[in-house]
This record gives sequence, structure tokens and C-alpha cells, in this order.
Amino acid sequence: MSNHKGRRNFIRNSAVIGLGATLNFEKVLPTVLKAEGKPALLGGAPLVSTPWPKWPMWNRETDEPLVLEALRSGVWSRAKKVALFEEKWAALIGAKRALTTVNGTNALITAVAQSDIGGGDEVILPPYTFIATLTAILNAGAMPVFADVDPDTFLIDPEAIKKKITPRTRAILPVHICGLPADMGPIMQIAKQHDLVVIEDACQAWLAEINHKKVGTFGHAGCFSFQNSKNLPIGEGGAIVSDDEVFMDRCVSYHNLGLPYGTASARPGSKLRLTEYQAAIGMVQMERLVPQTVTRNENARYLRQQMNNIKGIVPHILNAGVTQAAYHLFPFRYDQRHFADLPRAQFIKALQAEGIPCSGGYTPLNDIKNLGNTFETKNYKKMYPSSELSYERFRENNQCPKNERLCQEAVWLPQNVLLANKSSMDVIVSAIQKIQKNAAAIHKNTSK
Ligand SMILES: *Cc1c(COP(=O)(O)O)cnc(C)c1O
Repeated sequence: MSNHKGRRNFIRNSAVIGLGATLNFEKVLPTVLKAEGKPALLGGAPLVSTPWPKWPMWNRETDEPLVLEALRSGVWSRAKKVALFEEKWAALIGAKRALTTVNGTNALITAVAQSDIGGGDEVILPPYTFIATLTAILNAGAMPVFADVDPDTFLIDPEAIKKKITPRTRAILPVHICGLPADMGPIMQIAKQHDLVVIEDACQAWLAEINHKKVGTFGHAGCFSFQNSKNLPIGEGGAIVSDDEVFMDRCVSYHNLGLPYGTASARPGSKLRLTEYQAAIGMVQMERLVPQTVTRNENARYLRQQMNNIKGIVPHILNAGVTQAAYHLFPFRYDQRHFADLPRAQFIKALQAEGIPCSGGYTPLNDIKNLGNTFETKNYKKMYPSSELSYERFRENNQCPKNERLCQEAVWLPQNVLLANKSSMDVIVSAIQKIQKNAAAIHKNTSK
């Protein structure tokens, strides 16, 4: 199937469910008030008094018929609707095939296991990601190797990857964190040079692109998540995409008890099948994804420009060639020196008090208990020499100083904020300016 044709079919199918439902949230836009006055954290009026777009979105008229049909049919276990969802997802991403799984974590676990990655292999990943990226590597019995990030982009640095390659390196797991595309050109070049597998963690990066090619299609495989908070929410759900038919047959087999499928003979497996009603929810939510992605990108572009005018606020930079990001999150860095030394935690509290949802994001993944405890398991002890399983030594070898600092400076805005209108982006900027103006007072009154 040519991508072009697949895409046209997708658009034709879209019309059935209707795109009208996507813009409901226009009714509940935050109100712009003056950036003057007392900070909300000190008892003043918050800048935002009306709700941000609610997540997930649900429209009874347009969303319920397909889901009710699935429920009323009594066919709940994997059947035609799941297959149709996969067809649509593959077409939308521009991959030959897609396979759904119960969640993104298991999409990653499946893709890693079916890429012949196992005990003794080293797999390179960034330290700035959700724990599931690491879970997939540890689940396979492989050894994670952390490569530092570029703090400007929040993404894995190809130069840092190069430094981590050894004769035992088997794969790279780049993560398009926040929905920002990792630098796939150089990463694929490194992989080619060293004959490495590349599995993209695109669990936050639906429809993100580099030179109009979707992320998830650069590597050997790409993995997606449809968890409740994600930009295509099903509650739980995930998908693997790839052009490699043999690999995909193996994944299908693995996700269905290791039963033979296509070119894949029987193998160790699990049971990770999506249900029909989940696929129905996924198909109605898929209708929103394209227009919402456009809106998020427009607002993010504007917000980045505006933030560049505030001293001490450093918005993320997109890698060269990025034609679209997914913006599961909008990340920026906070420099407290320009805010009367107000610590980030207080800045976040102050911003939240003004009615802007935000958080401080990840802590370093290369320094968590799971790692040390995994090294204590029976399987790891059998697979690796004890010298390699010293958690102290591991931490020593996996230091990522740029990421340490990034984790202290980062601030995230969630994706639903980017679905509001342009004047709401101005409110975010006003709120930051209000905090900056009153930073000394906030610092004095909240640091007890
Ligand atoms: C959400 C997420 C996952 C895991 O997906 P689930 O569907 O929650 O299991 C993996 N990696 C990243 C970067 C994610 O954000």
C-alpha cells in the first residue's frame, strides 16, 4: 500500500465520525486579566479563573456510536475494530504495519524482545525519559547505558551516544521526549556505522516529524502510547510500527501467547491484545489528533517566541529539520538568578497559583532504585559478572551531568494548555512576568 493512498483512505474515513467535535473547548477559554496586582500565591487574584481545555475530550454525539456498537456487539476481544485501528495508525504514521498492544510499555518490551536484544547486550538510552523506556531494556535482561542529553533540546545528544558505544552495544533507544523529535539523522548514521538496532520511543510523539517524515519510522521500529493523559487517549493502549514484515510477524506472535503467525514460528510470548472497545475509543480519538496537533504547534511556536523575551526563561529548541512536534509537553528551563533566586519549586507553585498547570518534570533515570534492585535479581546475577552488577560502579559509569542540571531547571506545561487560544498563551507569559516582578516578595514570604 502506498502511504499516499493510505492517507487518503484515512481522510475519507475521518469524515464519517466528523471533525466537528474537536473545537468544543473554545467555550471554556481562560480569561485574560491584568498582569498587575498581588501574586496569587500571596493571596492575590489568579490570572486564570476559567478552566483550560479538559482532557481527555469526549463528545457524546460523535464519539459514542462506535463505542456503543462495540459494546453491544458482544465482540469485545481482539477482532475487526482492532485490525482497522492498526490499519489507520500505520497509514497515518506512514509505516507498512502497526500492531497494537495493551500499553506503550509493552509495545517497547515487545519491540525490544523481538529485535533479538537480551542478556549481555548494551542498550543506549537517554536519562531524561519516563521509566518505561528503561523497563523495556531491563525486562529483556539487557544492560542500560545512559547517554547525556542536549539541554537546549531536552533530547539525547548524538555526540554523547558515540562516546558510549562498545563492542557489546546492540541497540539505541532514542526517546522523542515531550513530543520533540530526537536528532534522528545523526542517530541513524551512528547506528548504521556500528550495525545497531534503533527502536524509537515515540510514546509522547504521535505525528511528530522531521522533514515531513513521522517519528517512529526512522528506526527499525517505533513505539507509541495511548494512555489516558497522552495526546491520543484510550485509557491504556500502545502500538508498534515498522516496515519490517518478519519483525512485525514476530511481534504479533509474541503479543498473542507466542503462537505462530505469518513468517514467525512459535516462540516465548505474552498476551498483550487490545480490545474492540478500546480500538473504538482509539478511532474516535484519532479524529482529533491531526487538528489538535496543528493547534499545539501554532501555540507552541508563539509561546516560544514570547518566552524568549523573558530573561531567565529558556524555551526548548527544536532540532534541525523538525517540521512538526507532538507537544505532549511544552518544556522550558527556569533560571532562578533572574527571579531573585526564587527556587524552581516556589516558581512552579506561584505559576500554579495563577491558574497555569505546570510541573517540574523528570528526575534523573540513571539514578533510581529499580536499577540496583534489578541487578540483585537471579537472572541478572546469572547473566553478568558480579563486577558489572555493582550499582555504585554503574552510577559512576553512567553519570549525565547535563541531565542532572536539566532536571533541576526544567518546567513543563501539559499538552491541553496548548489547545487553548492564542490569548491564553499571552496569559501564561503574563503570569511568568507577574511572578518575576514579585519574585523577591514571593521568595521572602514563602521561604520559611
Ligand atoms: C507513556 C510513556 C511510555 C509508556 O507508555 P504506557 O502506555 O504508559 O505504558 C513509554 N515511554 C514514554 C516516553 C512515555 O511517555
